[in-house]
Amino acid sequence: MAAIGIDLGTTNSCVAVYRNNRVEIIANDQGSRITPSWVSFTDSQKLVGEAAKEEASMNCENTLFQIKRLIGRKFNDPTVQKDRKRWGFGIVKDGDRPKLQVTYKEGVKTFFPEEISAMILAELKEAAKAFMGEEITDAVITVPAYFNDAQRTATRDAGRIAGLNVLSMINEPTAAAIAYGLDNKSNDERTVLIFDLGGGTFDVTIATIEEQIFDVKATGGNTHLGGEDFDNRMVDHFIEEFSKKHGVDISSNKRAISRLRVACEAAKRKLSVSTNAKVQLDGLFMGLDFKSNISQAKFDAMNEDLFDSTLDAVKTVLSDAKMDKKQIDDIVLVGGSTRIPKIRQLLQDFFDGKEICRTINPDEAVAYGAAALAENIRSGGSETKERLQLLDVTPLSIGTDVRESDMCVIIPRNTKIPTRKMGSFTTSRDNQTALNFEVYEGERPCIHDNHHLGTFVLEGIPPAPKGVATVISVFEIDRSGILTVTAYDSISGSENKIKITNDEKQMAKNEIEKMIAAAEKFKIEDMEWKEKSAAKNELEDLVYKIKQKVQKDTSVSHGDQKKILLKSQATMDWVKTNKKTESKSIRQKTKELRDLFNRMIGFSSD
Ligand code: AMP
Repeated sequence: MAAIGIDLGTTNSCVAVYRNNRVEIIANDQGSRITPSWVSFTDSQKLVGEAAKEEASMNCENTLFQIKRLIGRKFNDPTVQKDRKRWGFGIVKDGDRPKLQVTYKEGVKTFFPEEISAMILAELKEAAKAFMGEEITDAVITVPAYFNDAQRTATRDAGRIAGLNVLSMINEPTAAAIAYGLDNKSNDERTVLIFDLGGGTFDVTIATIEEQIFDVKATGGNTHLGGEDFDNRMVDHFIEEFSKKHGVDISSNKRAISRLRVACEAAKRKLSVSTNAKVQLDGLFMGLDFKSNISQAKFDAMNEDLFDSTLDAVKTVLSDAKMDKKQIDDIVLVGGSTRIPKIRQLLQDFFDGKEICRTINPDEAVAYGAAALAENIRSGGSETKERLQLLDVTPLSIGTDVRESDMCVIIPRNTKIPTRKMGSFTTSRDNQTALNFEVYEGERPCIHDNHHLGTFVLEGIPPAPKGVATVISVFEIDRSGILTVTAYDSISGSENKIKITNDEKQMAKNEIEKMIAAAEKFKIEDMEWKEKSAAKNELEDLVYKIKQKVQKDTSVSHGDQKKILLKSQATMDWVKTNKKTESKSIRQKTKELRDLFNRMIGFSSD
């Protein structure tokens, strides 16, 4: 069975597979090589991809997008609170996690971000099944290099909910480096800087490539920076302009904002090839039309700080890799937003006019690299002949708290993974029998400024004066960047060794089974919907043929004509009024109509 590579993007997703000795990008059922990461719910069905995106302006409350910006985040996360004000769909709090709220089939439903991402993954899995002619379950899924532990865990859970066996998760720029390496076979070591700016996330990675060894030296970026932010700036600009022109504030009108956002995104893309773009929306708000222009210079100016921040990340990564910019052999661009001329210019200027590599496709490179890795894992390196060796790094420092709020780093950022590091701790009170560990990730010296990953308690420490017990904690990060922490008391022996009880992960485990069952139910509902739609189509087709035949064939008596046309209409009306009827019943009714017609005139409509 083949294994696929999936680039699950904020804006678009892409799936690829290794076949016929090369990586092939899989087109979806609409023939497109990229699938918008959108899911929409209507009163009759769930839509994924382009069809969902098309619903945005008419059904913005139930059309979900940019879900990658929510995955693995807490409800109170400032970015979640900021984003939800911009989105047309509802976000509710479930414990400390965000849930998406939609109306689907006349009822209110809520979903965790993992479940929505799983719907997109399931769609890509189906496309792969159609392409390969066999069920596909093994997959490598990519994540932004700068994703934290919670975001990675949630993405892996999304894969499981979609019925995928996640072979590995790989950082997006590393996947792009593989694509670049496969495309530029050279025996000499090359140092590559991957600049990956997509719809919602930004990563910079420096890696050396030598034959099949991909050695990541350092990685950095921002999990909340991308094309959507540039769109937001333009949306805000036009909201203000509308308000100045007409004296009304459209910001709270979800439909108007949704339409404006689509127009701004299109204008932004136009500005990548032209110095000016028009934004024109009839009846945008209260019957008022909106017509405006934006220049490339204005667009660049309104995003100056965001564009500049990408260069700051490049500088940090160069410094983390202990490299000078002159040591970079190639600059590889990945992600749709790298088409913005100003970004290219800033990068090129920073690298003293160095040519930027244009050989790899920025939209497909990540899925391409993931598919190559998936094949490599599946075949143990035998079919792609060369075995890929990935030496990746962890993007964020991991540690625990000491002296109440100081961050004690156990694994510094940019440490090669998989890794295993130990820390030694002791009791702070006499006869203390339990030690509390809080695990954090981040670069700030105070834990409150970092991201809290989980808590665990080591119990059963033998009573002793303070400072006598020695508790060893072991922090391990696997190849997919997922963290496990264990601890044991070295004096009382190995029996005290315990595994971290990370509340979030534990909860996800319990919930995941429920989510898998819900996804399965959805799959059945979707199949039934498709079946029903096909059955209705078949009936409509038959009625059309009957009408045609009856009109043209003079041998059919007037009485028979009337009878069959009435029966046709009655069947159509029955389907219309019995909305909840199953496809089986529609097919039965169609058969009855067809049989009557065949008996009447001896005509086979099949
Ligand atoms: P990705 O996540 O790589 O699919 O990138 C999607 C982002 O790239 C979206 O924000 C798009 O608006 C943006 N994008 C795609 N094409 C262009 C373009 N020609 N110019 C500017 N931005 C673009």
